[in-house]
Parts: sequence; C-alpha cells; structure tokens
Amino acid sequence: MDADRINILVVDDNAEDRQNLEAMILSSGSLPCLVTHADRLASCYKQIDKRGIDLVLLDLFLPESKGLDTLRRVRKKAPELPIIVLTRLDDKTTGIEAVREGAQDYLIKGDYDSKLLHHSIRYAIERKRVDIKLQNYAAELENSNEEYKRFAYVVSHDLRAPLRAMQGFSNTLLQRYSDKLDDIGQEYVRRIANAALRMDELIQDLLVYSRITTTDIQITRINLEECIDKALEQVGGEIKERQAHITIQRPLPQAVGNVSTLAQIIVNLVTNGIKFVAPEVKPDIRIWSEIFQGRVRLWVEDNGIGIEQENQERIFQVFERLHGTEAYPGTGIGLAIVNKGVQRLGGHVSVESEPGSGSRFWIELKK
Ligand code: ADP
Repeated sequence: MDADRINILVVDDNAEDRQNLEAMILSSGSLPCLVTHADRLASCYKQIDKRGIDLVLLDLFLPESKGLDTLRRVRKKAPELPIIVLTRLDDKTTGIEAVREGAQDYLIKGDYDSKLLHHSIRYAIERKRVDIKLQNYAAELENSNEEYKRFAYVVSHDLRAPLRAMQGFSNTLLQRYSDKLDDIGQEYVRRIANAALRMDELIQDLLVYSRITTTDIQITRINLEECIDKALEQVGGEIKERQAHITIQRPLPQAVGNVSTLAQIIVNLVTNGIKFVAPEVKPDIRIWSEIFQGRVRLWVEDNGIGIEQENQERIFQVFERLHGTEAYPGTGIGLAIVNKGVQRLGGHVSVESEPGSGSRFWIELKK
C-alpha cells in the first residue's frame, strides 16, 4: 500500500464498466485510492507484477476465462491479495461460491452504490488480513502437532530403552548375585526395578494421552450402546476379578462422537469406578443417559470412596492423584485422557460426588 492510498486493480473487459467503477471508487474523500485498469487476465497478471496492488476488483467473465475459474487463476497468481468479485444481476449463486473459494467479498453489478463499494473494499482488506493470520496459525498448529508427534515417538522409543535396561539388570542382579547382597542391598535393587517399572507405566500413559491429543478423530453420529459394549468388553477381566456389578439402563440414545474415543473414555471411568472403592466393598456401577438442555448426558455412577468438592476439578489434569499408589495404584492420567477425549468430541465432562457417597461422572455430547 502506498503510504496512505489503496491501490485497486479493476479487472473487467468492458471499458465503460471500468470507468464507472473508477469514478465510484474515487468519489470518496475518506477512502483515498489509486485505480489501475486491466481488461483481461494477461494484463491483470502484468499489473500485479508491476505495481504494488492492494486489492483486486474482478469481473469473472473475461475473454480468456469464465466464472470461478477466473477467480482461481487470479488467486493462484496472487494468493496474498484481497479479491472482490463482480457478479451479474441474474446470477444469485456465483458470488457466494466465490467467497467459499477464497474471495473476500462480492458485489452484484448494477446493484451497489459508492457507499457499499467503499464498505466492501475496507471489509475485504481487513478480512484478508484475518484470513492470512488464521492460515498462519493453522500452519503453526500443524507444525507443533508434527513436533509433538515426533516428541512422542522419541519418548516411546528412546526413553523406554534405558528403563528396560534398568529393569533387566536389576532382575539379573537379584537372580545371580543375591548371595553377595544382604537384605538391604536386595531391597534397594527391588526398589530400582519398581521405580523403572513405574516410570515405564507413566511414559506409556503419557503416550496414550499424546495420541488422543494429536490423532485425527472422525466425528459422526454414533450409537452409545455400541460404545458401552465395546468398553465393557475391554474391562471384562477387571469386572470379573473385582466381582463388580454393572447395570446399564438401556436403550441408550445416539450422540455425536466417535466410537473408539468414547469407548476409551468409558473404559477409564469404569476402571476408576471399580478401583476407587473402600476395602471389602464390591464395586457397583450404573450407566444411564438423559437429555439435558438439548444434549445427551451419559452418566457413570459408582459406589466408591467419593471425591471432595475442592478436588473435583483438578483430578482431570495430568498426574493429579488424590491417593498414594499403595492404596490405589495408577498414574494419574486416566481422567486427563477422559477430559481431552471429550473435548475433542466437542463435549464436556464433570463429576458430582461427596466423600463416602460414590461419584457420578457425566459426559455431555451433542445429540
Ligand atoms: P489414576 O486412576 O491413574 O489415579 P485418574 O486420572 O483416572 O488417575 O484419576 C485421578 C484421581 O482422581 C485418582 O487418583 C483418584 O484420586 C481420583 N478419582 C478418579 N476417579 C475416581 C472415582 N471414581 N472415585 C473416587 N476418586 C476418583
């Protein structure tokens, strides 16, 4: 842009139309502009190369190119330039289609005055700035996603290898050299092996968390019953081992989501429901749904130890745990996976609970 003048390229094969447009553009004292003309694509390209054009006003019907193809070609030539397309009075759809294809605005020939034209010019320039910013953000996001994936790969391969070595050598030490180690020495070696095992579990869970954060998730209408059945199949062993009782209030409705992601979320909630019970208590879990303010709420209720009000938010963060691993084993990532998964499905998750009275987790999804 010339210090304070907008350089507008008017592309139209009709000389009279170009003159009229120029007169209208220059009629505003508050929008200082320069106008350059082009009567066909070739001269349009030349002007873009030659002058510091700030915006193109483009008639889509030129001798060498017709309709949206004209827009595509100009966009390819100058992707950074804002474009306002000029469509015909009898053509109601091309303008909208042009905006969908990347034009910043459209005007219907013979149906605008200078006020609308000036408004459109300002709008198109601002909109293009925002579009470019968004494109840059998207590219940055894509980049950091890639970095994140590379990081996860390094974590899984390179960090786990030394841990396996620690575990392997500790075990060898215990098996082959136990006669050379006294009880305290053996206990220390066992602790090293356990710490390595614990770190391996943490890394593996972090990788699951990173996967749910970065993988593409196809969102469709899904059947909640299918998700529950899939989840319960995965935790069948634990249910049997803990003699847990699970009640599902069928039928369950459809919702917007993804079967595998939702099954993974339910697995984590049910596993917690089975795990966080007082000693000697048989886990009793109830799953049901309701329509709440036009959305589907899926509830997972347990008869466990409950959660104090003040801790109910932070347990959804990575590594937040309320108990030692001796009492209740775990890594503190399960609910962070739930939280991230629900977020990626466009939903919400929360919990209602009181210590000693069980917990009721809910997931809210679009209908
Ligand atoms: P983990 O189960 O590995 O500890 P989570 O992220 O799944 O990790 O849960 C975080 C913490 O939230 C748990 O350590 C526990 O203190 C608490 N919690 C989660 N689910 C329940 C539940 N159903 N009942 C009581 N406390 C729970």
